Amino acid sequence: MSEFSGLDEFIAGLPKAELHVHHVGSASPRIVAELAARHPEFGVPQDPEALREYFTFTDFAHFIEIYLSVVDMLRDAEDIRLLTYEIARDMARQQVRYAELTVTPFSSTKRGIAAEEFLEAIEDARTAAEKELDVTLRWTFDIPGEAGLAAAEETARIATEMGPDGLLSFGLGGPEIGVPRSQFKPYFDRAIAAGLRSVPHAGETTGPETIWDALTSLRAERIGHGTSAVQDPRLLEHLAERQIPLEVCPTSNIATRAVETLDEHPLPQLAEAGVLVTINSDDPPMFGTDLNTEYGIAARLLGLDAAGVAALARNAVRASFMDEPTRKRLNAEIDAYLASWKRQRSAAD
Ligand SMILES: [Zn+2]
Repeated sequence: MSEFSGLDEFIAGLPKAELHVHHVGSASPRIVAELAARHPEFGVPQDPEALREYFTFTDFAHFIEIYLSVVDMLRDAEDIRLLTYEIARDMARQQVRYAELTVTPFSSTKRGIAAEEFLEAIEDARTAAEKELDVTLRWTFDIPGEAGLAAAEETARIATEMGPDGLLSFGLGGPEIGVPRSQFKPYFDRAIAAGLRSVPHAGETTGPETIWDALTSLRAERIGHGTSAVQDPRLLEHLAERQIPLEVCPTSNIATRAVETLDEHPLPQLAEAGVLVTINSDDPPMFGTDLNTEYGIAARLLGLDAAGVAALARNAVRASFMDEPTRKRLNAEIDAYLASWKRQRSAAD
């Protein structure tokens, strides 16, 4: 067995936490097939094989097309529940024990699903996933930046006035170009005052000034992507000193052309500068990836062995907003898994 395939096997079994992954963006061909069967009128293929082809990523416009076709099929609370629970099932298969899932309530409320019903559906799925699949889900509610201030107002209202038990944080997604972070300051102020943590996307497709903006106007505690920090030594120093984590999503950066090739990905420079990096999958099936694949890519870029990969998994636990018992348990699980892997390896030698 090659060293590399051994590491892949290690990653596949490693207990993990994920901090940057989107709700609709996690709809796998299997889940989309189920939604298509519930709503045949949309003409989306109901056969997972045909869907796999439909899902083969060509460019960013294609990603948006697939994404919107899934959003359109989310017609009622049962669709939302099904999507959410099945995402947890896909996570369980990858040994993801905990995820802060980015949910965009505005996409559903503007399509006529009542906020109360939407929240009940995700909470119902969350409770069932914890009990039946051993996956702990928590929510980030994010503003779809492209939808403007009306969307920000609606998202802040839902998050602060109706925020369900699973809600931990407040985010900002969508395009960065032409959508300055600072215009969302009042909404982040409200969310933070209500006890939510600030986790905007910044510095994915724009430069380090957007990350500064997210830190100063939105009081970001963690940055979605943040890869362009590498262009600003002072920012790198600031992130490293305060241990403000970055949610790095390598394959997504290639798919959206934020980074040209994986070999040019700034992950090694970020880690080298002492920044707390976490590895994430963003919109995994739509970018043809999953969290295990992203860990494999990170291991290659950073030249990590099993212990190094386990340390990366611990970074995500550290950068998460999970409660202390969950943090302790997950760290212990990671440590035990690494120890048993090492024992097996030395027995085989
Ligand atoms: Zn994202």
